[in-house]
Amino acid sequence: MAEVIDLDGKKRQHEKDRREKAKKRAVAVAGALTCGLCPHRCAHCGLPIKDQVNLPAELNFPLCGICLEEYQAYKRKENGEKGREAFWHTEQWFATWRTWLEYMRTSDEFRRSPAFLKLIHDNKI
Ligand SMILES: [Zn+2]
Repeated sequence: MAEVIDLDGKKRQHEKDRREKAKKRAVAVAGALTCGLCPHRCAHCGLPIKDQVNLPAELNFPLCGICLEEYQAYKRKENGEKGREAFWHTEQWFATWRTWLEYMRTSDEFRRSPAFLKLIHDNKI
């Protein structure tokens, strides 16, 4: 007697697997983009912020006092100031700040986008 293959059951299982995997991916995307937004932790180094500092208006994420000093050094270099304030203020250091700030800006844009809001809504995150 021939074995009966349950094609509908396989299709349902395949669809269920696909939805579960899509949900895990959505949770990972949402988690990656919301990490670092805690108001009591520095968005750059991740350490708890003990003393609140006055941040420049262009920053919409928290920085600790030390990272704020590094950010200000970055901005001075970006504005053409010559020389190094610290031996680690190399071109690579400059590039990490430039790309991190760009990452923070584009992440903020994505978090405000309809696609991200739908991802949050549809997955009840
Ligand atoms: Zn910090």
